[in-house]
Amino acid sequence: MNLFYKSTRGGQEDIAASAAIIQGIATDGGLFVPETIPILQESLENLQKLSYQELAYEIMKYFFTDFTEEELRNCIQGAYDEKFDTFLIAPVVSTSKASFLELFHGPTLAFKDMALSILPYLLKTAVNKQKIDKEVVILTATSGDTGKAALEGFANVEGTKIIVFFPEDGVSPVQKQQMVTQKGNNTYVIGIKGNFDDAQNGVKAIFTDIVFQDQLLEKGYLFSSANSINIGRLVPQIVYYFYGYFQMIQQGNLILGEQMNVAVPTGNFGNILAAYYAKKMGLPIGKLLCASNDNKVLYDFFETGIYDQKRDFMVTISPSMDILISSNLERLLYHISGDDPTQVKMWMEQLKTEGSYQLNEEMQEKLNNFYGGYATENATRESMKDLFAKTSYLMDPHTAVGYEVYSQYQSVSKDPRPTLIISTASPYKFTKSVMESIDNKYSQWDDFELITEMQNISKVQVPKTIQTLEKDEILHKTVCEVNEMKEAVAQILGV
Ligand SMILES: *Cc1c(COP(=O)(O)O)cnc(C)c1O
Repeated sequence: MNLFYKSTRGGQEDIAASAAIIQGIATDGGLFVPETIPILQESLENLQKLSYQELAYEIMKYFFTDFTEEELRNCIQGAYDEKFDTFLIAPVVSTSKASFLELFHGPTLAFKDMALSILPYLLKTAVNKQKIDKEVVILTATSGDTGKAALEGFANVEGTKIIVFFPEDGVSPVQKQQMVTQKGNNTYVIGIKGNFDDAQNGVKAIFTDIVFQDQLLEKGYLFSSANSINIGRLVPQIVYYFYGYFQMIQQGNLILGEQMNVAVPTGNFGNILAAYYAKKMGLPIGKLLCASNDNKVLYDFFETGIYDQKRDFMVTISPSMDILISSNLERLLYHISGDDPTQVKMWMEQLKTEGSYQLNEEMQEKLNNFYGGYATENATRESMKDLFAKTSYLMDPHTAVGYEVYSQYQSVSKDPRPTLIISTASPYKFTKSVMESIDNKYSQWDDFELITEMQNISKVQVPKTIQTLEKDEILHKTVCEVNEMKEAVAQILGV
């Protein structure tokens, strides 16, 4: 059976998965959603012994129905290989306090690799299927991790160019160094004088600029997005919730069929939305704990039913979650509204013109599987320190936000169901904030000294990519104003 994709705002005809992957965002500014979320046909029992790659096929085949089995398996084999430093790809590590699904074993040390290692393969296959003879230009805004993961995924992929915009002063030193040293003759990295939301809005504006798109088409270029609004990123993320669940069973934390909760450090709402899709497919997930940092728009949203972006943007130690407009929430709104694009469009227009929108009570009711929480900077630091003291397990600041919200939820709810905490980055990617939080004495040390020290105290080996990073040559130096982003793209492409 073929599954088609619709725009959440109803302004575009339904299209196949491959077309939705290429297009990235719908022409009316909406996001692509499957016409229905497929229900798993196989029993969980039959899936539980599969390798990551095998399981990935069994899940993704429901969504990418216009890919042949061979095509999809090839994409999976290309993506989940020795680029990851463990054959498990996404291992669950259980401590005496909690279980962590570590999604940071890919080349850029953050969970974005889970989807961005496969997206280039999906996109190339999709372009062939749709018989498009244009060069695909990947345009991406990043809060730090997407950019590098996308660069790594698309570097030197024939028939593509990748342009990444990042907030100049809004990413960690390691994140920045990772991006500006990116190799590959088709990679472009540009800092902007603004925050992530500015970068994301700038990219969205370029995407919906029809005149500009036509100019580029004439030149032989086709835009696509590697941001988490692309359905080709969302779907691969569903897989690891199943995989994590099965490991929880193997480790004796759960019995097959029993529910687990998940705690997800959230920014653009992509990762937690994938958990929601997994639940809808039939994975026994109970509560979805949506964890925010001081940019707690989502916490307020789940509390009050009001989404209000009119507030100060905070720069925190979990920069990949410093976001006030969580794009993927639009997909959840679509589903809870009973697939009502008119309603979604109204909310999104209100968000654009007034900076906020409000759900009615009936809609709010439908969010009761979610629990919104947030961690202040202090609480985040304390939880890194505390968990390390008790278990010797080092969390990065994003994961710590998830852990902190899980602890808060646990103490108010006494929910007996085991929780899987989604660990989204390696502590090595945020060495400074992690080490400072553990012990104040480290605040004087520089980032690269701290890396060695982190290895000493955590007994977790420094990842290979980090070892060479300091010496890598800086290849990208362009910085531009927010309103110059389109110009920068035009220049790169010679339009
Ligand atoms: C991107 C990112 C997040 C937020 O994930 P979303 O899917 O945008 O909600 C959390 N932690 C890290 C380390 C990230 O890179």
